[in-house]
Amino acid sequence: MMTYTINKNKCISCERCKKVCPVDAISGEIKEGFTIDQEKCVGCGQCKTVCQFNAILENI
Ligand code: SF4
Ligand code: SF4
Repeated sequence: MMTYTINKNKCISCERCKKVCPVDAISGEIKEGFTIDQEKCVGCGQCKTVCQFNAILENI
């Protein structure tokens, strides 16, 4: 399964990814950058699609 991680150096905490995640796997504080809970993530890739800052990395 594809796994996804967030590059905190690029993330601006806009919450777009968090809003589209179907399993509520993304959390974070404003200004600190968001993170993906790998235990919850089902690898759908929607977060990567909506991130406008190319902050979400796809790992094979
Ligand atoms: S959509 Fe991208 S920039 Fe916005 S909170 Fe998610 S990872 Fe960060
Ligand atoms: S890949 Fe899908 S399930 Fe995983 S964090 Fe992104 S939106 Fe959520």
